[in-house]
Amino acid sequence: MTTSPSSSSSLEDLISSLQNAGDMESTLNILTALDQLLPADRLIRHLISKRGSEVLLTTLVNNACTSSPNYTILLPVLHLLAKVGQRDRRIGMKAEEAGAVLLTLNLLKHNVKHARMATACLLVIQVFSSSVSTANLIRENHGLDVIYHLIPLYTTKHLHTIKAAINAFAALLCTKANISSVVSKGYISGILLLYNDWHSKDNQHVAIAIRHALLCCLHKATNSKAGKQAFLSQGGIRLLYQTTQTCLKSKSLEVLVEPSVQLMRKCLPKTPLSLASDHSAYTFPLPGRPHDISDVDVVPDESSEESDEEAENNQEADKRDCDDDLETDLDKLRLCPEPDRPKELLPQYSRLFPERSHDFQELDLTSEPMNSTLSSSNEEPVLVDTTSSISSTFYDGSHSKSEMSIRRHSPGDALLESCELHSYCNLVSTRTGFGTVFKGATGGAHPGHKGNEYDQDEEGARDPFCCSTTDKLLERHGACIPHHDPKLYHAAAAKTKSIPGFSILAFPDFWGHLPPPGHEPMSSRKPNIQRQKVLEDIQRFLSTDDMINQVVFDLADSSLQCRPDSLRFFSKFECGNLRKAIQVRRYEYDLILNADANCSAHTQWFYFEVSNMVEDVPYRFNIINCEKTNSQFNYGMQPVLYSVREALEGRPHWVRTGTEICYFRNHFCTAHGKRRTTFYTLTFTINFKHKEDVCYLAYHYPFTYTAQKAHLKMLQNSVDPTKIFFRQQILCPTLAGNSCPVVTITACPASSDWKDLYQLRNRPYIVLTGRVHPGESNASWVMKGTLEFLCSNDMVAQILREAFVFKIIPMLNPDGVINGTSRCDVSSEDLNRQWSKPDPTLSPTIYHTKGLLYYLNSIGRAPQVFCDYHGHSRKKNVFLYGCSVKETLWQSGSTIDTIGLKEDPRYRTIPKTLDCIAPAFSFNSCNYLVEKSRSATARVVVWREMGVLRSYTMESSFNGCDQGIYKGLQLGTRELQEMGVKFCQSLLSVAKDLKPLYIKRLTSHIDHKSINCFEDDEPPCVEEIEYSTYCPTLQATDLHSDVNSNMASGDEMEECEEGHGAAKYWQGCVGHSDHSSIKGHLFLPQTSTETLNGKKKRNKCNGVNAANGQILH
Ligand SMILES: [Zn+2]
Repeated sequence: MTTSPSSSSSLEDLISSLQNAGDMESTLNILTALDQLLPADRLIRHLISKRGSEVLLTTLVNNACTSSPNYTILLPVLHLLAKVGQRDRRIGMKAEEAGAVLLTLNLLKHNVKHARMATACLLVIQVFSSSVSTANLIRENHGLDVIYHLIPLYTTKHLHTIKAAINAFAALLCTKANISSVVSKGYISGILLLYNDWHSKDNQHVAIAIRHALLCCLHKATNSKAGKQAFLSQGGIRLLYQTTQTCLKSKSLEVLVEPSVQLMRKCLPKTPLSLASDHSAYTFPLPGRPHDISDVDVVPDESSEESDEEAENNQEADKRDCDDDLETDLDKLRLCPEPDRPKELLPQYSRLFPERSHDFQELDLTSEPMNSTLSSSNEEPVLVDTTSSISSTFYDGSHSKSEMSIRRHSPGDALLESCELHSYCNLVSTRTGFGTVFKGATGGAHPGHKGNEYDQDEEGARDPFCCSTTDKLLERHGACIPHHDPKLYHAAAAKTKSIPGFSILAFPDFWGHLPPPGHEPMSSRKPNIQRQKVLEDIQRFLSTDDMINQVVFDLADSSLQCRPDSLRFFSKFECGNLRKAIQVRRYEYDLILNADANCSAHTQWFYFEVSNMVEDVPYRFNIINCEKTNSQFNYGMQPVLYSVREALEGRPHWVRTGTEICYFRNHFCTAHGKRRTTFYTLTFTINFKHKEDVCYLAYHYPFTYTAQKAHLKMLQNSVDPTKIFFRQQILCPTLAGNSCPVVTITACPASSDWKDLYQLRNRPYIVLTGRVHPGESNASWVMKGTLEFLCSNDMVAQILREAFVFKIIPMLNPDGVINGTSRCDVSSEDLNRQWSKPDPTLSPTIYHTKGLLYYLNSIGRAPQVFCDYHGHSRKKNVFLYGCSVKETLWQSGSTIDTIGLKEDPRYRTIPKTLDCIAPAFSFNSCNYLVEKSRSATARVVVWREMGVLRSYTMESSFNGCDQGIYKGLQLGTRELQEMGVKFCQSLLSVAKDLKPLYIKRLTSHIDHKSINCFEDDEPPCVEEIEYSTYCPTLQATDLHSDVNSNMASGDEMEECEEGHGAAKYWQGCVGHSDHSSIKGHLFLPQTSTETLNGKKKRNKCNGVNAANGQILH
């Protein structure tokens, strides 16, 4: 139907003539004309805006409140009201004001014999019930009971009326009082009984709509605790589970499966996680805090619950929240707050800028001896000095800080000692002949270890046992991984301090790995996979006989005995974080992740070892305490697996693996219910290739702190010190006593001539940081690409080194990474929320990184680019977040006039360049908004407080890309490292004088241009992840068609009038005891009248006085 302006104006004419129509014939004509206009949605809204609902209600009241109601007019009026009412959100209130609510209820009571009229009344009651007070009013007048008793056991007659009754009943269940009334009267068991009856007798599937409507009723009725309880105690889950099994077999019954499954999910009783405490298994005594602080449950705030770095607005609602979050205070956007520390504290950071003081005299010497001079001067003399200066000079400014720093160091030392207790021989094979490797924590046995960090590697490696066994392994299986040396890794691990004192290395980290030869496409989602998995989970609740339910791994109990045929789990190694494994069925395991150290939240990252498998059997794994509300695991992402056997056969690869993957809300709750947390299950199935293999499974490609240290050592050894100035220093010690490395990379000057030194000291700075969030290991892989590129002989790398000085802090959160946390540091704080005022004791790495930046600022050399590398779990591609005042104000819809605001638009240069050269990068996923909730993040603080125009967060998807040449592929370490390279290359675009020449050359041989992809947000998941919001409601169009079919069903009307109406088969119903009194209700129910009289006050308010079933004026 067209909705021309003329139809709108004729609509208005019709409404006003309806208001004034005197005789029946003209009223009927107007009603018919209106009905013909109404299918158009816009016209309905127009009619509502012109008081159409009120006029229709008045027409209804006028025609019903006579001694002989005029049904010829009432029927079309009711039909129109139903159609208009479903679009009018205030219809309930309007009906109450017009006195039409009880009047319609009475019309229903009078017309139960007349199916058509009854149906029309029920449809109208359904729309009236959109208002809570109307729904309650109907219940107070026994409407719920009347309608409930209109629902019969299985029949083939009057299906329209029955469906309308069920829908009206469901609509009434929108209020707490109505639900509790339904529960107390036992109607839930009645509806279950009805559902079962219709299900078992409707063999021809002619009443699917009725069965669906009954499920709707159950959904509404179980929206309260008592409702759920009643549903459970009446065997609702078992009944629905059984009916669903039949529905699954027939395509036409498909529509009943989803509401049944969601209903069961909703009503499954909450099951506490099988843990002694919700708290992390790892606690760390914090300086300046009482030890039992760790028992306080940390409730994550809103912003950290949405735990990726930046706003992840998948849906409209989220988007609105995000807009509310935008900073619209111009002062906060533009003015720099006072520095967080006195400027006297800044000069000590000069030690982190050796390139500014080094005289490069060695460059004038001949090449042979020069090498050795350089490599030794590269490291330790600087390091020893700086370590001591950190702890002594650093805190001199304040006495209290000085005291805290002493306390801070003591736990670290204690830890070191406990670590040294694990003085095992270095390399031992596991029970399976290979697999985990014991870490040689022999550090303390060697003199002079402390303060001489990077040299111990060799000493550790010199341990004879370690050498021989490692050598044997290497000799036999020879791994050759670029920039990786197992022996060096092994030695570096000896110095890594973990809370539990890890003494075992995970094989993949020790041995190393290469990206697999081919690309890895995203996995396709099997249709209805989630439903299948959820049904398997529900089955656990029903039949406990075939369940094993045995704990097979517990981080806190190493003496655990488990069945000989069950899988073995292990996670007590760096970055590992499996807390508990429970064998559920023969080939199915529930896995519980360890919460972040010192708190009871933030579970997402996982990394564990599994062994004792048989080959080619589908093992189902369920990680049951994930916290994010959605995951890329629903959009083609797979976990990664490393097989030791494969590695020793020459294929040392982490591979994307797993089938039947999905991520959905489950029915688990915290062990002690202190925290209201919703948990999600990540489930995946793995067929292991080899029996008795040792495999590792992880959320993403692991990258340990030890790997970071070993990698820096390898790089340092690889560079030509006459060309590349490479310095590795300690930024500061961490809380747990590890060192946080900072790396300087730039080109050595051509000579020690003052002109060359002057050029070097005038190079602009680029500051890069990463891995502040330990679970975002992709950040480390991108960083690895950046570091290797900057140390390479590539021409562009050389140009970049000559153009810039790079200060890189590759791992801002070593302690978190080591202890396998997802989000936080061992202080249980999200370090990327500490930048505004970082605590020197509790967030030392942030405090000193900010100090380094303050220092650069104080000498007038604020970095040209700052970028913090992160990982993103809910979006695809790689993208940047930056900061722009104008874009923030525009996006927020702020009224501030931005025309006069000056802003340098070159914050877009790097993203634009990356869009041209980096295949994984998506320009359209970038934004430059400053959110209030991100005001303490690195990106915003460096932009606002250091005045760095190009201050970014770089987000890399854990999954893959939906655009460009990697479209449909998951990102591997190769692609992530490539991204690190491309980021460096994009810096040419901001290098002075270099831009035109090199950018042209660079882009000329790269044919990539990301395809414009404006849909970077995921579409809604094909299956409902949440069940809390799920409700199978009638679509507006359904009601529309119900009205139309009732209007068309002239036959039924006749039938009723001949006395074959609804009451007849209701009377004939057997076995449905609740309906035994139905007759009393249907025919002028005595009780209802009494109650109506009892409610006289209300009735008068409605302008209707009802007595003896007669509607009077
Ligand atoms: Zn992050």
